[in-house]
Amino acid sequence: MDTSAGFQRTRELVGAVAACGRNGPGHGVSRLALTEPDRQAREIIAGEMRKLGMTVRMDACCNLWGNLPSTGKGPGVLIGSHLDSVPEGGDFDGVLGVAAGLGVVRDILDSTRPPAHPLSVVAFTSEESSRFSMACIGSKSLTGHLVPEDARRFHDARGETLEEALRSFGGRPEMLGQETLSSGDWAAYFELHIEQGPVLDKTGDDVGIVGAVAAPTRFMLELEGVQAHSGACPMNLRHDALTAAAEVILAVEAAGQAEAKYGSVATVGVCECLPGAMNVVPGHVTLKVDLRGIHSESIARMRSQVMAKAVAICGARGIACQLTPYSSDEPVAMDEGLAALVERICREQGVKHRRMPSGAGHDAMFVAERIPSALIFVPCRDGVSHSPKEAIDWSRVRPGYEVLREAVRERLFL
Ligand SMILES: [Zn+2]
Repeated sequence: MDTSAGFQRTRELVGAVAACGRNGPGHGVSRLALTEPDRQAREIIAGEMRKLGMTVRMDACCNLWGNLPSTGKGPGVLIGSHLDSVPEGGDFDGVLGVAAGLGVVRDILDSTRPPAHPLSVVAFTSEESSRFSMACIGSKSLTGHLVPEDARRFHDARGETLEEALRSFGGRPEMLGQETLSSGDWAAYFELHIEQGPVLDKTGDDVGIVGAVAAPTRFMLELEGVQAHSGACPMNLRHDALTAAAEVILAVEAAGQAEAKYGSVATVGVCECLPGAMNVVPGHVTLKVDLRGIHSESIARMRSQVMAKAVAICGARGIACQLTPYSSDEPVAMDEGLAALVERICREQGVKHRRMPSGAGHDAMFVAERIPSALIFVPCRDGVSHSPKEAIDWSRVRPGYEVLREAVRERLFL
């Protein structure tokens, strides 16, 4: 079978979309959701959908749908991802999954048998939280996590609300949450995505089969010491909030290391020190902590270990410590039946693969609440993503593309 047409077209589409929002050399792409570059990307994708004979529509949340007319009855197969990027992001995050979906449609149309079930490709709105401080807006809207009130509440840095942005793109924010995905309509959802981490690049595996998407538990720790003169306050009388914070940061790392065997990770990504002057003993430090894993118990253990250590460290140093929780989401399992299907196809095709968790969030984690879902990772160079340096080696993406196509084909011709 000639397998090149859809894959070749996938590469062309990724290249065309990457030109939308392209910054100067070395600065990647800035294609924030519901901005002009996003509109240009959507036009390219919608044009391809029409070329393939798909009917194109946009739902209330501006998710872009291409539906292949089918003689067969549902439930169908859905392939998707997103087109928006972070500021100065890479060329492949999200775009690859949408483009590969359309490549697969092309290959399936080129094959002799027409699909026995409906086949659709969706580009979800605003997967990245960069513009509206909320991730996965499009997939949330289709799974009952977004209501019209949210669209009025969330806004970008310039004050434009999500409601206004959706309306300017032809969306109907007043209808958010009315249309939802249903397993009666869809038998399977597939998302092909770059890993955004270093595992596949380091191990040499070409396909990662995601078992579960890790969920972040996030909180803020505020350490209140005593601000003092750095020359006049002797060492034995200090209550330095920053040195206490340094110990707490190491305790967070230790908590992550203790749970690493379960795939958990622990990070302090923000450390703000006040007043931040060279001649002042720091009086106040804010730490922002992000704990992730695919096992709720492991996340809970990290959280209690961090808290116990923080209380002990601060107590010994005469520092007050206060925790403010931000979020505590549950890890989301992908469909085991689809994961097994993908694994079998990898084995049959001799593709090097591994089961793995996803540390990053994806639209698939919301879709999975409603429809059996599979998340398939392909390697990105050095694991770099959300960066102008994001890069892929197409020869290492091809096996993942072909596995996706075979999995879709099997579900379609069931
Ligand atoms: Zn993405």
